[in-house]
Amino acid sequence: MTMAVQGDNLVVVPQMKLERLLSMKGGKGETSYVKNSQAQARHARSMLHLLEGALDLMQLPLVDSPFAVADLGCSCGGNTLFIVDVIVKHVTKRYETLGTVPPEFQAFFSDLPSNDFNVLFQLLPPLLDKGSLEGCLTADGRRSYYASGVPGSFYRRLFAGRSIDFFHSAFSLHWLSQVPDTVTDRRSPAYNNGGIFIHGASRHTAEAYKKQFQADLANFLRCRSLEMKRGGSMFLVCLGRTSTDPNDQGGAGLLFGSHFEEAWNDLVQEGLIDEEKRDSFNIPVYAPSLGEFEEVVEADGSFAINKLEVVRGGSPLVVTRPDDPAEVGRALANSCRAVCGVLVEAHIGDRMGQEVFARLERRAAGHARELMEKLQFFHIVASLSLE
Ligand code: SAH
Repeated sequence: MTMAVQGDNLVVVPQMKLERLLSMKGGKGETSYVKNSQAQARHARSMLHLLEGALDLMQLPLVDSPFAVADLGCSCGGNTLFIVDVIVKHVTKRYETLGTVPPEFQAFFSDLPSNDFNVLFQLLPPLLDKGSLEGCLTADGRRSYYASGVPGSFYRRLFAGRSIDFFHSAFSLHWLSQVPDTVTDRRSPAYNNGGIFIHGASRHTAEAYKKQFQADLANFLRCRSLEMKRGGSMFLVCLGRTSTDPNDQGGAGLLFGSHFEEAWNDLVQEGLIDEEKRDSFNIPVYAPSLGEFEEVVEADGSFAINKLEVVRGGSPLVVTRPDDPAEVGRALANSCRAVCGVLVEAHIGDRMGQEVFARLERRAAGHARELMEKLQFFHIVASLSLE
């Protein structure tokens, strides 16, 4: 645990390890992840053919043991339930096409311990009882898999060796395990002076983030290669970028950099927080290039690459009136808050959190047209099988 000095008042607070802290905004309120993840849902739906392609390539295991699927970084919304349902139905169909009775399915929903598993469990549809007449008549709205929650970081081991057939992870691997230490160290050339994200930061800062991303991904792959059954596969989607330059984070840069950084600077200029408070905050997200991702998969060497590409994902902003600046501003602030509000509030408290997101909303409203035109996400999509 590292110690950080807070502002002028020299209160020493332990800086919690990111994995004990990070979660999307829980509950079901206006700024919750559940209410602000329609864009992810839309992007996931546009990639279903790629997911189904990955499932078609996998070797179906014998039916004498349950088929185990795990969603890593599941969060608490309906997206994970939708995806797991698609996977179970698609694999079931493959068995049926072969004239084989499908096995039972076991689904693991995995995320960091502070994830709102309660909301997720409450959203789980009731289990389909295939043995009952009612079950035969009303399969809709039921789930045909057993469900468990698994708390922990996917950068470490989560499952017993050779126990999982299929891993899925969407919109999660761009979260780093930590902000690199050098980025918050005043004496380091990688110190992110005046910034809260790497978009537009110095080459040294960006390089530190890139190294962290590649080390994290290497750990992720090593753990999964041990947990996956032989013949198993994995389908991964995370934020990516088209530029070769890591300081140009594309859509992620517009969401977490630009206007958000200005909103933090407003707080400094208005004397609400000091510079050090701002500089010690950094968003632990990195959108890699295809090459950076591929390098790690190849160095690991456990997986065959079935598909590895960059896909245009669209905008994270879901609005009913794209020409209404107020709505666009609110959508941007809510999207940002749903995913990094918890980290912001842990760093500057709830009240200052309100202030910074209010400023972000105002600034984003002032650039509404530009945001609607330019805010585009690209995703890295990887379909990998154990060699
Ligand atoms: N897959 C969901 C949620 C994506 S949000 C969807 O498609 O909507 C990203 C999720 O990744 C968050 O819930 C966050 O807590 C989780 N996450 C980030 N870092 C993680 C880590 N190291 N281990 C496990 N989960 C992590």
